[in-house]
Amino acid sequence: MDSGLYVVATAIGNFGDMSQRAIEVLHNVSLIAAEDTRHSQRLLQFFAIDTPTMAYHDHSDDRALQRIVKCLADGGSVALVSDAGTPLISDPGYRLVRQVQDSGFAVYPLPGPCAAIAALSVSGLPTDRFLFEGFLPARDIARKNRLAALAAESMTLIFYEAPHRVEASLQSMIEEFGADREAVLAREITKTYETIRRGPLSVLARFVSEDENQRKGEIVLLVAGKPKAEEAIDADVSKLLSRLARELPAKTAAAVVADCTGLRKKQLYDHLLALKQAP
Ligand code: SAM
Repeated sequence: MDSGLYVVATAIGNFGDMSQRAIEVLHNVSLIAAEDTRHSQRLLQFFAIDTPTMAYHDHSDDRALQRIVKCLADGGSVALVSDAGTPLISDPGYRLVRQVQDSGFAVYPLPGPCAAIAALSVSGLPTDRFLFEGFLPARDIARKNRLAALAAESMTLIFYEAPHRVEASLQSMIEEFGADREAVLAREITKTYETIRRGPLSVLARFVSEDENQRKGEIVLLVAGKPKAEEAIDADVSKLLSRLARELPAKTAAAVVADCTGLRKKQLYDHLLALKQAP
């Protein structure tokens, strides 16, 4: 295989999600640099991979880095894996990837599972624009400050969460985003007790506090972005809408005006109803 550093995504709970190519690379590299070699043994044994391993995390000393660079300089290849999912995504590897690139060696991605993307894909929240926040600060005040800074964000927000902090985080989210903001709890993805639950923050908070099982395992929390304020309906549009509504059913009038102005049909229909109810 080509010499270089292979950044290999591994399963987030179900070994069946390992790609054929990931398994082949782990078999064939000269060395596997793992966040935790003992943790990775289960996966390696499952696929009967006996490639030598070494520990690598972002606080590893320079000797670990040098060992990897030397292996590449000798024409070898190294795979980087973390405990689960895609390395570098709330996991070690950033320093290593930069160092290897700066030393003139190739870095190859082996894409695969990532809890944030898996959760987003089944969240039912908008996926066109999203913001990955990783873990919130553990301390109360720092967490609230972080959430306050995100309150006006219109993109879908994605957080990794520790099970013993999920209740407190949901509570802080209610305080900063409002109880009605839509959110999703994605727990134990690809595992036996996989749970995906969408609802207003207040309902999710109740769900988690009333069932201790929801405070176990691995969790991704997603929160809908702040809805954009609706454009106001100006006087001319309002007049046109009322005039059309005298000739057509209200729904059709709203649909025609929505087509012509780009405003939302529902907003226009509600406006018509309000006009009709006005004294
Ligand atoms: N690199 C990993 C990835 O690509 O998703 C993330 C590593 S981060 C240290 C671990 C966090 O990811 C967990 O605390 C949890 O928030 C989330 N996570 C990992 N596996 C998960 C799963 N099966 N279900 C839900 N969340 C998961």
